[in-house]
Amino acid sequence: MNASPKKAICLLSGGLDSSTCLALARRDGFACYALSFDYGQRHKFELEAAARIAAHCGVARHLVLQTGLDAFGGSALTADIAVPKARSAGEMAHGIPITYVPARNTIFLSFALAWAEVLESSDIFIGVNALDYSGYPDCRPEFIEAYERMANLATKAGVEGRTRMRIHTPLLSLSKAQIVQLAQELHVPFGLTHSCYDPGADGRPCGQCDACLLRQKGFEEAGIEDR
Ligand code: ZN
Repeated sequence: MNASPKKAICLLSGGLDSSTCLALARRDGFACYALSFDYGQRHKFELEAAARIAAHCGVARHLVLQTGLDAFGGSALTADIAVPKARSAGEMAHGIPITYVPARNTIFLSFALAWAEVLESSDIFIGVNALDYSGYPDCRPEFIEAYERMANLATKAGVEGRTRMRIHTPLLSLSKAQIVQLAQELHVPFGLTHSCYDPGADGRPCGQCDACLLRQKGFEEAGIEDR
Protein backbone atom coordinates (compact mmCIF):
# COMPACT_ATOMS: atom_id res chain seq x y z
CA MET A 1 0.00 0.00 0.00
CA ASN A 2 1.38 3.41 -0.94
CA ALA A 3 1.49 6.21 1.62
CA SER A 4 0.13 9.45 0.22
CA PRO A 5 2.96 11.53 -1.24
CA LYS A 6 4.48 14.43 0.68
CA LYS A 7 3.20 17.82 -0.38
CA ALA A 8 5.46 20.57 -1.68
CA ILE A 9 4.76 24.19 -2.49
CA CYS A 10 6.47 25.12 -5.75
CA LEU A 11 6.86 28.77 -6.68
CA LEU A 12 6.16 28.90 -10.41
CA SER A 13 6.74 31.99 -12.54
CA GLY A 14 6.39 30.14 -15.84
CA GLY A 15 10.07 30.63 -16.67
CA LEU A 16 12.57 27.90 -17.42
CA ASP A 17 14.09 27.83 -13.92
CA SER A 18 10.89 27.57 -11.90
CA SER A 19 9.47 25.03 -14.38
CA THR A 20 12.58 22.88 -14.01
CA CYS A 21 12.36 23.21 -10.24
CA LEU A 22 8.74 22.03 -10.33
CA ALA A 23 9.68 19.07 -12.54
CA LEU A 24 12.41 18.14 -10.04
CA ALA A 25 9.98 18.23 -7.11
CA ARG A 26 7.61 16.01 -9.04
CA ARG A 27 10.42 13.60 -9.97
CA ASP A 28 11.34 13.39 -6.28
CA GLY A 29 7.84 12.14 -5.51
CA PHE A 30 6.17 15.24 -4.12
CA ALA A 31 2.54 16.13 -4.72
CA CYS A 32 3.10 19.65 -6.05
CA TYR A 33 1.08 22.73 -5.18
CA ALA A 34 2.14 25.43 -7.63
CA LEU A 35 2.00 29.09 -6.61
CA SER A 36 2.20 32.02 -9.04
CA PHE A 37 1.77 35.75 -8.56
CA ASP A 38 0.07 38.46 -10.53
CA TYR A 39 2.21 41.20 -8.99
CA GLY A 40 1.64 43.80 -11.67
CA GLN A 41 4.58 42.58 -13.74
CA ARG A 42 4.95 43.97 -17.25
CA HIS A 43 5.49 40.41 -18.53
CA LYS A 44 2.13 39.19 -17.28
CA PHE A 45 2.28 36.80 -20.21
CA GLU A 46 4.39 34.55 -17.97
CA LEU A 47 1.25 33.65 -16.02
CA GLU A 48 -0.17 31.92 -19.11
CA ALA A 49 3.08 29.97 -19.30
CA ALA A 50 2.78 29.10 -15.61
CA ALA A 51 -0.73 27.75 -16.15
CA ARG A 52 0.42 25.64 -19.11
CA ILE A 53 3.38 24.23 -17.16
CA ALA A 54 1.26 23.52 -14.09
CA ALA A 55 -1.24 21.60 -16.24
CA HIS A 56 1.53 19.77 -18.08
CA CYS A 57 3.14 18.71 -14.79
CA GLY A 58 -0.15 17.53 -13.32
CA VAL A 59 0.08 19.61 -10.15
CA ALA A 60 -2.37 18.95 -7.34
CA ARG A 61 -3.40 22.60 -7.46
CA HIS A 62 -2.24 25.85 -9.04
CA LEU A 63 -3.03 29.18 -7.42
CA VAL A 64 -2.37 32.66 -8.84
CA LEU A 65 -2.39 35.31 -6.12
CA GLN A 66 -2.81 39.05 -6.70
CA THR A 67 -0.05 40.94 -4.92
CA GLY A 68 -0.05 44.28 -6.80
CA LEU A 69 3.61 45.26 -6.34
CA ASP A 70 3.15 47.79 -9.16
CA ALA A 71 1.44 50.00 -6.56
CA PHE A 72 4.95 50.53 -5.19
CA GLY A 73 6.80 50.40 -8.52
CA GLY A 74 10.55 50.85 -8.14
CA SER A 75 11.50 48.24 -10.76
CA ALA A 76 11.59 48.05 -14.55
CA LEU A 77 9.21 45.10 -14.20
CA THR A 78 6.56 46.96 -12.18
CA ALA A 79 6.89 50.63 -13.18
CA ASP A 80 7.24 52.71 -16.31
CA ILE A 81 11.00 52.21 -16.44
CA ALA A 82 12.69 50.84 -19.56
CA VAL A 83 13.93 47.24 -19.41
CA PRO A 84 17.70 47.24 -20.16
CA LYS A 85 18.51 45.69 -23.54
CA ALA A 86 21.54 44.13 -25.21
CA ARG A 87 23.72 44.22 -22.11
CA SER A 88 27.04 42.39 -22.27
CA ALA A 89 27.86 39.56 -19.84
CA GLY A 90 30.25 41.96 -18.11
CA GLU A 91 27.52 44.57 -17.64
CA MET A 92 25.15 41.94 -16.25
CA ALA A 93 27.79 40.74 -13.80
CA HIS A 94 27.99 44.06 -11.95
CA GLY A 95 25.54 45.66 -9.58
CA ILE A 96 21.87 45.00 -8.94
CA PRO A 97 19.85 45.61 -12.14
CA ILE A 98 16.77 47.80 -12.40
CA THR A 99 14.76 44.61 -13.08
CA TYR A 100 15.20 43.70 -9.41
CA VAL A 101 11.75 43.88 -7.79
CA PRO A 102 12.05 45.12 -4.19
CA ALA A 103 11.67 42.24 -1.70
CA ARG A 104 9.93 40.04 -4.27
CA ASN A 105 11.27 36.67 -3.14
CA THR A 106 10.73 37.55 0.52
CA ILE A 107 7.10 38.29 -0.30
CA PHE A 108 6.62 35.21 -2.51
CA LEU A 109 8.21 32.87 0.03
CA SER A 110 5.98 34.30 2.75
CA PHE A 111 2.86 33.36 0.78
CA ALA A 112 4.36 29.92 0.10
CA LEU A 113 5.05 29.51 3.80
CA ALA A 114 1.45 30.34 4.70
CA TRP A 115 0.10 27.82 2.21
CA ALA A 116 2.62 25.19 3.36
CA GLU A 117 1.49 25.56 6.95
CA VAL A 118 -2.17 25.15 5.99
CA LEU A 119 -1.40 22.08 3.87
CA GLU A 120 0.86 20.65 6.62
CA SER A 121 3.68 20.63 4.13
CA SER A 122 7.27 21.18 5.21
CA ASP A 123 8.77 21.63 1.76
CA ILE A 124 8.96 24.75 -0.42
CA PHE A 125 10.72 24.74 -3.78
CA ILE A 126 12.06 27.94 -5.35
CA GLY A 127 14.10 28.06 -8.56
CA VAL A 128 16.56 30.75 -7.51
CA ASN A 129 19.96 30.71 -9.10
CA ALA A 130 23.00 32.57 -7.81
CA LEU A 131 25.41 31.96 -10.68
CA ASP A 132 24.19 33.50 -13.89
CA TYR A 133 22.13 36.29 -12.38
CA SER A 134 23.76 39.50 -11.41
CA GLY A 135 23.51 40.04 -7.71
CA TYR A 136 19.78 39.76 -6.99
CA PRO A 137 20.10 39.89 -3.19
CA ASP A 138 17.12 37.58 -2.67
CA CYS A 139 18.62 34.82 -4.83
CA ARG A 140 21.69 34.28 -2.65
CA PRO A 141 22.26 31.22 -0.43
CA GLU A 142 22.63 33.40 2.70
CA PHE A 143 19.17 34.84 2.06
CA ILE A 144 17.63 31.38 1.69
CA GLU A 145 19.36 30.09 4.85
CA ALA A 146 18.16 33.09 6.85
CA TYR A 147 14.64 32.73 5.46
CA GLU A 148 14.52 29.06 6.40
CA ARG A 149 15.59 29.87 9.97
CA MET A 150 12.93 32.58 10.14
CA ALA A 151 10.27 30.22 8.72
CA ASN A 152 10.82 27.80 11.57
CA LEU A 153 10.49 30.61 14.13
CA ALA A 154 7.45 32.13 12.45
CA THR A 155 5.07 29.19 12.13
CA LYS A 156 2.94 27.23 14.54
CA ALA A 157 4.17 24.03 12.91
CA GLY A 158 7.78 25.08 13.49
CA VAL A 159 7.34 26.22 17.10
CA GLU A 160 5.40 23.10 18.08
CA GLY A 161 8.16 21.02 16.53
CA ARG A 162 5.73 19.12 14.33
CA THR A 163 7.78 19.75 11.26
CA ARG A 164 10.93 21.49 10.14
CA MET A 165 10.30 23.79 7.19
CA ARG A 166 12.76 23.36 4.35
CA ILE A 167 13.37 25.74 1.44
CA HIS A 168 14.65 23.66 -1.48
CA THR A 169 16.85 25.50 -4.01
CA PRO A 170 18.06 22.74 -6.34
CA LEU A 171 19.17 25.20 -9.05
CA LEU A 172 21.06 27.52 -6.73
CA SER A 173 24.57 26.79 -7.93
CA LEU A 174 23.90 25.52 -11.44
CA SER A 175 24.89 27.42 -14.57
CA LYS A 176 22.17 28.29 -17.07
CA ALA A 177 23.57 25.60 -19.38
CA GLN A 178 23.32 23.00 -16.60
CA ILE A 179 19.72 24.08 -15.94
CA VAL A 180 18.91 23.65 -19.64
CA GLN A 181 20.45 20.15 -19.59
CA LEU A 182 18.54 19.23 -16.46
CA ALA A 183 15.31 20.57 -17.97
CA GLN A 184 15.87 18.39 -21.01
CA GLU A 185 16.44 15.30 -18.85
CA LEU A 186 13.22 16.04 -16.98
CA HIS A 187 11.31 16.56 -20.25
CA VAL A 188 10.36 20.15 -19.41
CA PRO A 189 8.55 21.43 -22.52
CA PHE A 190 10.76 24.44 -23.36
CA GLY A 191 8.16 25.87 -25.72
CA LEU A 192 5.62 26.24 -22.91
CA THR A 193 7.94 28.32 -20.72
CA HIS A 194 8.38 32.09 -20.87
CA SER A 195 11.48 34.00 -19.77
CA CYS A 196 11.35 37.45 -21.42
CA TYR A 197 10.92 40.56 -19.24
CA ASP A 198 9.58 42.69 -22.08
CA PRO A 199 7.57 40.55 -24.53
CA GLY A 200 5.48 41.82 -27.42
CA ALA A 201 1.69 41.94 -27.16
CA ASP A 202 1.55 38.38 -28.50
CA GLY A 203 4.00 37.15 -25.87
CA ARG A 204 6.88 36.87 -28.32
CA PRO A 205 10.22 37.32 -26.49
CA CYS A 206 12.20 40.51 -27.22
CA GLY A 207 15.47 38.61 -27.59
CA GLN A 208 17.47 41.46 -26.02
CA CYS A 209 16.63 41.71 -22.30
CA ASP A 210 18.86 40.04 -19.68
CA ALA A 211 16.41 37.14 -19.32
CA CYS A 212 16.34 36.50 -23.08
CA LEU A 213 20.13 36.77 -23.42
CA LEU A 214 20.84 34.48 -20.46
CA ARG A 215 18.38 31.95 -21.83
CA GLN A 216 20.02 32.07 -25.29
CA LYS A 217 23.47 31.71 -23.76
CA GLY A 218 22.35 28.75 -21.65
CA PHE A 219 20.90 26.88 -24.61
CA GLU A 220 23.95 27.65 -26.76
CA GLU A 221 26.37 26.42 -24.10
CA ALA A 222 24.27 23.31 -23.52
CA GLY A 223 24.19 22.62 -27.25
CA ILE A 224 20.42 22.25 -27.11
CA GLU A 225 17.86 23.92 -29.35
CA ASP A 226 15.29 26.21 -27.66
CA ARG A 227 12.20 24.92 -29.40
ZN1 ZN B 1 13.33 39.65 -23.54
